[in-house]
This record gives sequence, structure tokens and C-alpha cells, in this order.
Amino acid sequence: MARSAVKAGVRRAGVHRGTVNHDGRRGARGKAAGIPRVTLIPGDGVGPEVIDAAVKVIEAAGVKIDWDRQLAGAIALRRFGSPVPEQLLDSLKTTKVALKGPLETRVGEGYRSINVYLRKLFELYANVRPVRTQAGVHTPFRGVDLVVIRENTEDLYAGIEYQVAPGVVESVKIITARASMLIARFAFEYARTHHRHLVTAIHKANIMKLSDGLFLKCAQRVARDYRDIEYKEQIVDAACMRLVTDPQAFDVLLLENLYGDIVSDLCAGLVGGLGFVPGANYGKHGAIFETVHGTAPDIAGKGIANPVAAIKTGALLLDYLGHAGAGDRIRAAVDAVLRAGRVVTPDIGGKAGTADLTAAVIRALK
Ligand code: ATP
Repeated sequence: MARSAVKAGVRRAGVHRGTVNHDGRRGARGKAAGIPRVTLIPGDGVGPEVIDAAVKVIEAAGVKIDWDRQLAGAIALRRFGSPVPEQLLDSLKTTKVALKGPLETRVGEGYRSINVYLRKLFELYANVRPVRTQAGVHTPFRGVDLVVIRENTEDLYAGIEYQVAPGVVESVKIITARASMLIARFAFEYARTHHRHLVTAIHKANIMKLSDGLFLKCAQRVARDYRDIEYKEQIVDAACMRLVTDPQAFDVLLLENLYGDIVSDLCAGLVGGLGFVPGANYGKHGAIFETVHGTAPDIAGKGIANPVAAIKTGALLLDYLGHAGAGDRIRAAVDAVLRAGRVVTPDIGGKAGTADLTAAVIRALK
């Protein structure tokens, strides 16, 4: 989704009306203007390794970006005493766009997830994760081509939890009509722009009648404005089973925050794992591009992380910046390397390291 399109969409209807493709071959092209300044957050764990790969590939694709490198997360906490230091926020407020590695999500240390904090700060209400079968990557599933669209700002992620009495706690699930309408409209606009035919709202309204019921009502209301796109609903547990028995039954998935988190990882499993799925957060005040995977502490520093998700996330950034042609070339190069199957990382049974796969993608760039 191009930056200009996002701004125009926000101005017109409070939603994105993108004209540029997300990890796909659909949609028109945006126009690049000047050298864009982008905040670069290497992140924690495998973050620096895979983000470095993405930056190298973007440079090799011939796109010039003025990177404003900033620390966040555990390393920023050690150096500046805050996981979200002032200079990072200043940078984001100026550039309004970032390429970000995963950040450690600390539990019970006085601050909630930094990722959630950044998403709320910039009202990054739409999380988009294109999931597509990758030729050369063997899984039990064929022909998967779907897009997970996840509400990003509320639900149980509002972080409201308290102890009612010793041994009894409550976690509050916040669902608002405003956020539900916004994300539903985003999903239908996305479907229309990307020539997708079906939006499936995923819910548990049979149990959470008020909260998920409201989410569904909003989706139904928005669906009436998009008669050209089919609309379906599915209970989340049934949807999970269907995803692994008949993934081709889905096209665009519309989910609240928590179900979106869980179902995203499930969908990543359909196409080879977390190392393959890119992600983007679009909002009213900008966009942050980040992979679905986390810091992967078990393999951090070993030089074996799969950089494909980060490289494809970089391609989504290029789409947004108006360099969709370069984004497509990067996606084609990744496809060629994986299809050849000679240089692949251990997560899918190969022996290559992060740097080897990155170099192979750069060689495959045309
Ligand atoms: P976090 O707490 O940061 O979410 P996590 O370990 O719980 O970390 P992930 O980082 O998403 O969650 O990792 C889940 C599993 O997937 C781990 O075994 C990890 O090694 C693997 N994994 C994640 N990303 C990659 C990658 N890019 N390449 C290879 N394996 C990966």
C-alpha cells in the first residue's frame, strides 16, 4: 500500500485505499519521490541479522533509502534505561515509517509489549500478513494464498488486568465499534484493491456474544457496502481446522487482535514456518514493517536465521514507498532462490546461513 494512497485514504474515508500491492502481484503502482528517510530498528535476538539482510537486498535492488538507525527493546533498555527511548520516538514522529526487527516482549517488568506500545502510539490499526505457498518449500499444503488482516490496537492487548481477590484475576477484552468498523473497512478495501473475492470474519461470538458480537455486527455493516466481495463468517476453532484441511477455502481473513496473532502463526505453518511470512502495520500516522516471527532466542547469534520473512517485509516497505517495481524484483529473486532449493536455511532442512541466502537473493536480482 503506497504512502500517498494511505494518506489519501485516511483523508477521504478514515481507511486505507491502497493502490500498491502487498507481497502480491496485484494493484497499480505508486510513485516514488526523492530519497525517503526510514527509521531502522534492528531489534533483539535474530532481529539485527535478518534486518541487515533486508537492508542489503534493498540496496542491491537499487533503491536508495536514508536509514535512521535507532535502538529499541532490550538493548535500548541497557543503554538508555528505556526500551522505547526518546530519540526513537522522535525519529518515528519525523519519518512516520520504519523497518523493524522483532523486540523482546518482557512480561511483568513494569511495561507492556513495546510492539503494542508503538502500534498504539501511531494508531497502527491494521496488521497485514500475506501468506503464500512458496515454490521449493515443501509442506503438506498446496496453493495457499491468503492474507491475514488483524486488528492491532485493542482486544485483550489493551493490557487491562487486575486481581479481583487473591487467586482470582480478570483480563479485560475491549472491542469498540470504532476500531471494528475501521479494520473491517480496511479488509474490504484491501480485498477490492487486490482483486480478492472473499473476506471471512473469524470470531467466537457464540461465547463472547457482546464483544465478538459487536465485531461481527460491524463487519456485516461494512460488508453491505462491498457487494462485489463475498462475505463469510466462521467460528475461530472451526476456522483453524478448516485452515489445515482446506486452506484454499480462505482468501482475506478478518480478525480481532488475539485471534489474529494465533491464526497468523498457524497460517505461517502452512507455508513453511515463521521464516517466510512478511508483515506490515498500517495506521493513521504512518506504517511499521515487521516480520511475523519473534526474536527466536534459540537461534540468535548463530547466523542461521531464515532472512526471507525480513527480505519480503523489506519488499512491502518498498511498495509503500512507491518502489513496487523493486519490491516485485526482490520477491521474484527470493522465489527463484527457494525454487532452486540449493541455498536454504536449517529451518527448512538446508545448511546455508543467513548471509549465504541473502547473497543468493542478491545474485538472483535482475
Ligand atoms: P518471541 O518471544 O520474541 O516471540 P519466540 O521464540 O517465542 O520469541 P519466535 O521468535 O517467533 O517466538 O520463534 C518461534 C520458533 O520459530 C523458534 O523455534 C524460532 O527459532 C523459529 N523461528 C522464528 N523465526 C525464525 C527465522 N527467521 N528463521 C528460522 N527460525 C525461526
